[in-house]
Amino acid sequence: MSKDKLKETLKLSIVSKLDNPRSASIAYSKSGQIYAAGSVDSDTHLLNISSEQAVLALSASANDYEVYKIESVYEKPDKNAPLSPIIAKIIVDHQIRTGQEIEYEIFDTKGEKIFSEKNLANILPFYNPSDVKLDRTSQKTPPSKNKALFPKKGNFEKNLKDFALKGFERNFPTYDSASGYGSAVLTKDGSVYIAGQYSSFEHRMNIHSEMNAIISALMDKNFEITHLGLVSTKFLDCPCNSCGACRQFISEINAKFNLNIEIVTFSKDTDQFEKHFIKEYLPEAWGNRTDNLQLTTNNQKNKIKTLKFDSNLVPLVLSGEKNTTWRMFDDKNISTGDVLTFINKETGKEFAVATVTKVKEKELNKITDKDFDGHEKFESKEKMFEIYRKYYGNKVTQETIVKIIKFKLK
Ligand SMILES: [Zn+2]
Repeated sequence: MSKDKLKETLKLSIVSKLDNPRSASIAYSKSGQIYAAGSVDSDTHLLNISSEQAVLALSASANDYEVYKIESVYEKPDKNAPLSPIIAKIIVDHQIRTGQEIEYEIFDTKGEKIFSEKNLANILPFYNPSDVKLDRTSQKTPPSKNKALFPKKGNFEKNLKDFALKGFERNFPTYDSASGYGSAVLTKDGSVYIAGQYSSFEHRMNIHSEMNAIISALMDKNFEITHLGLVSTKFLDCPCNSCGACRQFISEINAKFNLNIEIVTFSKDTDQFEKHFIKEYLPEAWGNRTDNLQLTTNNQKNKIKTLKFDSNLVPLVLSGEKNTTWRMFDDKNISTGDVLTFINKETGKEFAVATVTKVKEKELNKITDKDFDGHEKFESKEKMFEIYRKYYGNKVTQETIVKIIKFKLK
């Protein structure tokens, strides 16, 4: 591979600060496939993923267990210590499980080779974990992409769960029968990426399935992630949950790419599922965004938004009968995932806190019966206009856009 190509791969790095040094890796497989990834920095640093581990995780997610070489480029290598023993261990742990030795080379950005080793096990003579070649690595099924088109037909949640289950089958555990998690990540262009967990003998370095599937999308330069489905072989009759580390990871990805990923957690053997947005799944998430990061978003500002309701509507909201409100001329930019405080217009007192689960916009004259789900009905269209003119004045016309806001009480 040309050094220019390797250097180009640096652009895949996801940094916490723009001046942080980047690294990138390319993995070559005997299958003929090539996997490229940049390092993924976490604001917490605890969740940093090296580019070497990322390329190996990408290969495992593609059912490809024949990586024989990794080349890395480092922007600011320490020439006295070019090789991190942690990276060496990650690569050795991978080759123990696949039975395929991996040659490793490090370059600086000028293309100068600063380290190379045919088999990193040679430099870790004291490290001899038991041989645990995974059965799946001997099966001669050809590698296949872990990316597909998400079907437009059928039940959305069921489709998402099916892909998450397929993700589990692509995990890379430390032993064959390990239980685990599977994830499916959807992007705005209708693609779906699947992955299971990429485990490590040092479990602290595991990449959970959520992170793994997200990395697949990001390294494919598909940044507009909309949904993440999660299923676990440990949660059969109730929805599983993302761990705190993954919630933090997702929260940081949301902030870096201006996203609001909807997390759908499934029960493996029943139809149950739950939907979450980070704002309620990890309230008050820790963040370290600095203004110099171009991808900075206002997602994390967590401004409290309020909505006022007539007092006659308050009991309907509290009983759950009313879970939709229609608003016009929204200057608060209410969007899915926002946490709203509800105020009783008459008393001025807060009476509920809710999360926005869905937002739809429509011209008033295009409202259909279905839009009245969870919303009080009007005697007639005329009455409806009258009521909205009372709220918003005569600027309300047939063409005024109504924001249909569905919410769930907290
Ligand atoms: Zn996790």
